[in-house]
Amino acid sequence: MSRIVMKFGGTSVANLDRIRAVALRVKKETDAGNQVAVVVSAMAGTTDQLVKWTAEASPMHDAREYDTVVSAGEQITAGLLALCLQNIDVSARSWLGWQVPFRTNNIHGSARIEDIDTSRMIERLEDNIVCVMAGFQGISDDERITTLGRGGSDTSAVALAAALKADRCDIYTDVEGVYTTDPRIVPNARKLDKITYEEMLEMASLGAKVLQTRSVAMAMNHRVRIQVLSSFTDAPGTLVVDEDEIMEKQVVSGIAYAKSEAKITLVGVENTPGIAGDIFGPLAAGNVNVDMIIQNISEDGKKTDLTFTVPENDVDKATNILKESGHVKYAKLMSDREVVKISVIGVGMRSHAGVAARMFETLAAKGINIQVISTSEIKISVLIRAEYYELAVRALHTVFGLDAHPE
Ligand code: ADP
Ligand code: ASP
Ligand code: MG
Repeated sequence: MSRIVMKFGGTSVANLDRIRAVALRVKKETDAGNQVAVVVSAMAGTTDQLVKWTAEASPMHDAREYDTVVSAGEQITAGLLALCLQNIDVSARSWLGWQVPFRTNNIHGSARIEDIDTSRMIERLEDNIVCVMAGFQGISDDERITTLGRGGSDTSAVALAAALKADRCDIYTDVEGVYTTDPRIVPNARKLDKITYEEMLEMASLGAKVLQTRSVAMAMNHRVRIQVLSSFTDAPGTLVVDEDEIMEKQVVSGIAYAKSEAKITLVGVENTPGIAGDIFGPLAAGNVNVDMIIQNISEDGKKTDLTFTVPENDVDKATNILKESGHVKYAKLMSDREVVKISVIGVGMRSHAGVAARMFETLAAKGINIQVISTSEIKISVLIRAEYYELAVRALHTVFGLDAHPE
């Protein structure tokens, strides 16, 4: 007998028929004698609609009320799945974040989990009652509902699995696992049997939304065994594992893209010591995450141009901060949202030189100009014009030998 957490994403619970199909999958696990906790997302599209309504009701909304609204979708699916389970004679009960309780800090909209008291849930699991928990939501110290950031049900599931000391955490979604790149962009992307925590962490943080980044970091820290698999087929999925569980390491195991970046360039900045601090300090204080940075100093050394990327949603905030902070003198400020960050990822890069050169040559051969570059031990990222992103992903996918072989 095992204790397992099963998580179902929005497409998997998009309507009642699919929720009934999910109930059957859960029943298979209970019939096999397992204790099962389920984490559900809102029905596909629901959270987007709730976010839209909130923005329409109040553009500069109160984040506490934002969470009250956008957490609502998961309440509906938790209740419906519990009902569908009861209808097929599986004892089940829904749990909202506050009922667990699933304690978070009070950073509404992207709250972090602080403590999960699973004692009552464990009692129910031991009585063979399926616990269906609403994902994405928690409760703060001041007893208000919080949400964990978009895609946060993955993190709810991994956190619950860690707290319950579950044997497995199965993440059911609308593709059969983690692929070498987004299968919707590259139809011959290959499903990976296994991927390391580190690579998955990079893939997620560089744009592959199949798992929320924080869920991977949490799984890595708490050694939760995650499997990503389809709720529509019975194909084996992808296991996220430690590096030593993978015998043959690929140099490049995946390619990710992120469309949600924007580029800001400050032209003709006075090149004096401390200038970078004067620019990036206020941005950090304003909670704007700066990602890639390049600096070009003029020949005489008196002026510099600085280019960096920020999340697309933060462009206006970042430009206002820079305009208002009187310290920084520059000739011109430009912003560009039509950019995409493309990354190649692989733990094998640690021991292989030449990946960057190959990446740059491939893009050059397609006539794609690279605007900004950043690297870490196991990834190389470049910023390119948005219109070329599919071309770039496909070309790199082929060059690094990732294309699926025809059956
Ligand atoms: P869910 O609603 O189940 O949480 P998501 O839409 O959040 O599902 O994540 C699944 C989607 O992630 C897939 O439909 C796929 O388009 C996208 N995706 C991006 N990169 C990858 C990748 N490398 N492997 C698998 N899926 C990916
Ligand atoms: N429903 C939430 C979202 O769409 C959480 C999730 O699905 O993981 O972001
Ligand atoms: Mg998701």
